[in-house]
Amino acid sequence: MTTSAKAYSSASPASKLAPLQIARREPGPTDIELEILFCGVCHSDLHTARGEWPGTNYACVPGHEIVGRVTRVGAKVTKLKVGDIGATGCMVDSCRTCPSCQKGLEQFCLTGATFTYNSPDKHLGGHTFGGYSSGIVVDEAFTLRVPEGMDLAATAPLLCAGITTYSPLRHWKVGPGQKVGIVGLGGLGHMGVKLARAFGAHVVLFTTSPSKVADGLRLGAHEVVVSTDAAAMAKHASSLDFILDCVSAKHDLNAYLSLLRVDGTLCLVGVPEQPLAVHAFSVIMPRRNFSGSCIGGIAETQEMLEFCAKHGIVSDIELIPIQQINEAWDRMIKQDVRYRFVIDMASLKQT
Ligand code: NAP
Ligand code: ZN
Ligand code: ZN
Repeated sequence: MTTSAKAYSSASPASKLAPLQIARREPGPTDIELEILFCGVCHSDLHTARGEWPGTNYACVPGHEIVGRVTRVGAKVTKLKVGDIGATGCMVDSCRTCPSCQKGLEQFCLTGATFTYNSPDKHLGGHTFGGYSSGIVVDEAFTLRVPEGMDLAATAPLLCAGITTYSPLRHWKVGPGQKVGIVGLGGLGHMGVKLARAFGAHVVLFTTSPSKVADGLRLGAHEVVVSTDAAAMAKHASSLDFILDCVSAKHDLNAYLSLLRVDGTLCLVGVPEQPLAVHAFSVIMPRRNFSGSCIGGIAETQEMLEFCAKHGIVSDIELIPIQQINEAWDRMIKQDVRYRFVIDMASLKQT
């Protein structure tokens, strides 16, 4: 049994997003059905739908920063009840038994997590459809509670941009006394700035966009460096403890590795289409670490939401109707996002 939902999808790498009717499963005993209120627009949506990464299945319905109202729950559900606000992020399931899942690292499930879109759909066959849609059905184990009082539209981006920056900052124990670099002021980067500041670090933002300098400071950076200014970059040589690289396109990693002190770490969360070259000298001298991180587990995502609620942190957003999604994607490519588009899903009723 299925129900029908309205969605926006891409039919091929070159096509624009357009309306499509999709099927959602009837809620099972542990499922929660959400009427989607808001969905953030992540650069991963664009990489996937435009076939910039391998393995996109079409029709592709992106969206994994989902906040919604509970409309139905299965008989065994205890986490949320009808009428509550719930959320779901980048994953809707995993095996739940492998060593990664047992450690709360469902994103690294050894049999492969079920991602919110473009993963095999265990229930209906085919592949999963994301949050650019009117509703979604998710097992309660992969839904999140939204703390009371949060601005729901501005909370949606926390489900990916928030957790993707929170998790590595926590893992590498970023805090007081450390000098931390955030590279790229987009959706992820602006959350990285806010969170690194909240964790007590000295925050240096690196941007290619001189027009974002004032915003970088307003969002919490102590210093902003325009990365095309070689002299400004050189002032930070061998001085940073940790760098979170949130850039979506090809760029020179060596320029950032050279800013790390002995044993410092550069963690990549951005996923450019092309491979990035690392010169051996960038890491051997002086013993630097080059790493990466992928979203965060479900328990850590809930922890991040509570942290953000406590510290008054949400995303800076531009709310758009879904009919403007293609223009929003074009602006995202031009680095013109301030600092996350969020789709007001009520607009889907007009299609
Ligand atoms: P976004 O909002 O488009 O921000 C990307 C930022 O990168 C831009 O605002 C820009 O910042 C910088 N940038 C873009 N093109 C550049 C270029 N050619 N050279 C140098 N800098 C450039 O994207 P996002 O949603 O934050 O996502 C960022 C990346 O993270 C994407 O690749 C996305 O797929 C990936 N991602 C990874 C994970 C994970 O789990 N690891 C999760 C979510 C997203 P400035 O204008 O400040 O330079
Ligand atoms: Zn994302
Ligand atoms: Zn697993």
